[in-house]
Amino acid sequence: MSVRRFTGAVSVTGLGVLLVVLAHAGRLVPPGAALYVILLGPAVVLGELLPLKIPRRGDDEEITISTTFVFALLLAGGLPLTLLIQGAASAVQDIWARKPAWRVAFNVGQYTLSLAAAAAVIHNVRAGLGIAHVVPLSPHELPAVAVGGAAFLLVNMGLVGVAVALHLGRNPLRYFREDLSFSIYTGAVLLCLSPAVLAMLQFSPVIFPVCLLPIVAIYQGCRQAARSEYEATHDLLTGLSNRPRLRQRLERAVEHGEPFAVLLMDLNRFKEIYDTLGHHHGDLLLQQVGRRLTDAIRADDEVGRLGGDEFVVIVRGGALASDATAVADRVAVALRQPFDLEELEVEVDASIGIACYPTDGDDPQTLLRHADVAMYQAKRGHAPHATYASEHDHHTPARLLLAADLRRAIDGRELVPFYQAQLDLASGTVGAAEALVRWRHPTLGLLSPAAFLDVAENTGLIRGLTLRMLDAALEDRQRWSEEGTDLVVAVNVSVRNLLDRSFPAEVGRHLVAHQTLPDRLKLELTESAIMADPDTAREILDELAAMGVDLAIDDFGTGYSSLAYLQRLPVRELKIDRSFVAEIDSNAGDGVIVRSTIELGHNLGLRVIAEGIESDRGLQELRRLGCDGVQGYHLSRPLPADRIVAVARELGLPPAPRLLRPQVA
Ligand code: C2E
Ligand code: CA
Ligand code: CA
Repeated sequence: MSVRRFTGAVSVTGLGVLLVVLAHAGRLVPPGAALYVILLGPAVVLGELLPLKIPRRGDDEEITISTTFVFALLLAGGLPLTLLIQGAASAVQDIWARKPAWRVAFNVGQYTLSLAAAAAVIHNVRAGLGIAHVVPLSPHELPAVAVGGAAFLLVNMGLVGVAVALHLGRNPLRYFREDLSFSIYTGAVLLCLSPAVLAMLQFSPVIFPVCLLPIVAIYQGCRQAARSEYEATHDLLTGLSNRPRLRQRLERAVEHGEPFAVLLMDLNRFKEIYDTLGHHHGDLLLQQVGRRLTDAIRADDEVGRLGGDEFVVIVRGGALASDATAVADRVAVALRQPFDLEELEVEVDASIGIACYPTDGDDPQTLLRHADVAMYQAKRGHAPHATYASEHDHHTPARLLLAADLRRAIDGRELVPFYQAQLDLASGTVGAAEALVRWRHPTLGLLSPAAFLDVAENTGLIRGLTLRMLDAALEDRQRWSEEGTDLVVAVNVSVRNLLDRSFPAEVGRHLVAHQTLPDRLKLELTESAIMADPDTAREILDELAAMGVDLAIDDFGTGYSSLAYLQRLPVRELKIDRSFVAEIDSNAGDGVIVRSTIELGHNLGLRVIAEGIESDRGLQELRRLGCDGVQGYHLSRPLPADRIVAVARELGLPPAPRLLRPQVA
């Protein structure tokens, strides 16, 4: 049943009962009850106007401490009068709090039904002695009062509970089971005080202020409890939900079963801002981000802060991936405006990862982890947001298995280099061969790097892989050299190697082990690998260059680095990326980028190589443009070690193999 239909039914029934009761009411104020009404009436109104928000369930559940007075008024003043006062007070408070009309009507309706039920029960138990009018209260009335109180509690809790459960989209029965004890406890405490209040008033009206004391104490206690509950569930800096509450919300959403999406977001450059401007400005920024997020999401969605600069948005309401990306777009736009931090203007942007329930995970932990994977994917692609895709996830079971397999393969020598010839255009000879890793997988056959390289990169196995390739390539080279063919081998180096200060020493060890002069080894590194940590990379490259190892920039043109920066590195060669060379291959003469790269490279004193040559036309064009070397399928595919030498010989080897080379110690 929908919440609207349920609350509508309660409202209509309640109003009907109200009309019937009022129509049959005799005197509104029963004889002898005037004083009670004068004292209790205002107390009811006051209690209604000061509700306590309980951050327990829903967002805005309230308990009103007026319950004690309402029930006492019922006992003293009878049903019609109580309904009038209570109904009016509840409506005024709800309208004041700008609640929608259906909620105003529901509250009046449910109070009417609860009070009418209590009155009817008391009436029956007392065998018809006036509708609930029990003043003066005598001890033998107490059983009737107790049963009446129970009826009130039951109907009130039942109606409100079902409405809240439906509103939250939860199963009412399950909801009651979880929440029963709290509701019974607070309700019963407040109701038990009602006969006590009556007894005290009977004793002397002067004592009425004393009646208020326990109520005030309860009020304070509840406020304190509500406050601690708030603190336990909210991030105090931004006022947003905190991690435990977000978790709970996610658990509920999963329980609920409707599709939804989790947006995980962190601010780029936040640490920088925090470090340079200090924590005061950092906090201000986080607060403003929190506010913008709250404004950017829809009413049904929820935003929270996981900690640090990490925020989460739960996108509800039949959330398809497109809904989630629409919200992510809005969030990204909202954050793009500069932030005003006490006369300082700061710009930040965010990376947002999206994971959808149930497609990307069916428990909060998996969803958050997958949103995290997507977030890093967004960062990597410099995109404002990205949606989870398992191929970006380096921790899926399949990939973990692959990683374990790969570790074994590295140790077990299943990884082997294939070689591709590099032709020197000036001499027309093959001076070098690039080692490209292949995995001779026992069951899957020969795997190319695309199948496993990113697993290696993301698990740290790449270190072992590079060293294995270095070892194998130098071993092959040493054998060719002993057979009379002196080729330079080029080995690809990954970003991890350029962050590893022990790498140059490892390279040195392998050179010695294979009795190879450093200039017979070339290392290929990409711009992006260097730019990951330019300072460390620079130190490592300087060290390698000082040893005499040849260094080349691979995939040139695909990164973001400037030639001006690369110029300061000890590299000697640029390899123009295949994507630019393909252009020249397809329409000769149109390779503006290739031409200018060759010119720039030469001006900087670098050798320029083009990779990915697939046709003779491309080769001739590159020759015309003054390129120094080429590599590509047109000359040779990557081949096993025992076949590359024959191919190189066919293409042409350098005229005089240098036979007498000094040996490295
Ligand atoms: P890369 O370093 O740019 O290597 C050149 C890639 O282009 C090779 O792919 C090669 O087979 C391919 N190729 C060469 N000529 C042509 C051509 O004319 N047309 C086309 N369409 N492709 C051509 P491969 O062997 O699949 O390697 C892919 C990438 O994997 C390499 O790109 C390199 O980045 C990486 N890689 C390969 N071996 C290693 C290694 O031992 N260590 C590291 N860290 N990365 C490696
Ligand atoms: Ca390469
Ligand atoms: Ca390349």
